[in-house]
Amino acid sequence: MLVNGDFHVHTQYCPHGSKDAMELYVQAALKKELNCLSFTEHAPLPSGFRDPVPNNDSTMQWEDVPAYLAEANLLRKKYKKEIEVNTGYEVDYVLGYENETIKLLKLLKANPVYSILSVHMLRAPGGEYVCIDYSPEEFSRIIQLFGSVEKVYEEYFQTLKRAIQMDLGPYKPKRIGHITLIDKFSALFKSNYDYSSDINEILSLIKENNYSLDANTAGFFKEYCGICYPPPSILEKAASLDIPLIPGSDSHAANDIAKGFGLLPANLTYSKPL
Ligand SMILES: [Zn+2]
Ligand SMILES: [Zn+2]
Repeated sequence: MLVNGDFHVHTQYCPHGSKDAMELYVQAALKKELNCLSFTEHAPLPSGFRDPVPNNDSTMQWEDVPAYLAEANLLRKKYKKEIEVNTGYEVDYVLGYENETIKLLKLLKANPVYSILSVHMLRAPGGEYVCIDYSPEEFSRIIQLFGSVEKVYEEYFQTLKRAIQMDLGPYKPKRIGHITLIDKFSALFKSNYDYSSDINEILSLIKENNYSLDANTAGFFKEYCGICYPPPSILEKAASLDIPLIPGSDSHAANDIAKGFGLLPANLTYSKPL
């Protein structure tokens, strides 16, 4: 059974997304008869960290945060009778920038329930930071930096485990984002890395910390991935551990609200963030 909500949603304040205004997302959610929508715009990056993507457009700019919050607030009130609108952030975990991230979360007063902690950035062996979510060309360059695709996978899961275990203070998000994002370009870059034991550890850590899992449908529609993050077998395993599965489309355009929810395993229970 699907809960009638989409809990991973971007907005026009995301510089790499569409220009669709937040209200269009709310209206799209209403059209799909959802009862809840959580905005989770990419929080600004931790202080001192330079965005490694070419256009420096991975996240919302600091100066846009007040407008993002004000607009969400307005929509929450305007549509109160039709849909529950909440606001959080998708927060990057960047290895080595933990203290800056704690400060960032404090400044944002990010609501841990409606926010997501994600790994998009890795530190490569030479110390350079890279974004694994960007493009096939960039992913290919990242493989060169690490020496093999397997080493990239290994570092991704190590970083993810640290993210889950790290004390990031009282505002640390309680949901872990797209835990198999590293598969985004997997049809192009075949990996022999078996991540099943990493996933087992990650699910145990999520369980121990009372976190929940982003059941993220965006991967279904990525040309070189074709499966949700994480795949159904992992969602099933998480469900068997009673880890809450929180559905999210990761929409960067209003039309993508709840996209792919019908493709998630129908035998599992999905919940709203608590
Ligand atoms: Zn994004
Ligand atoms: Zn993400």
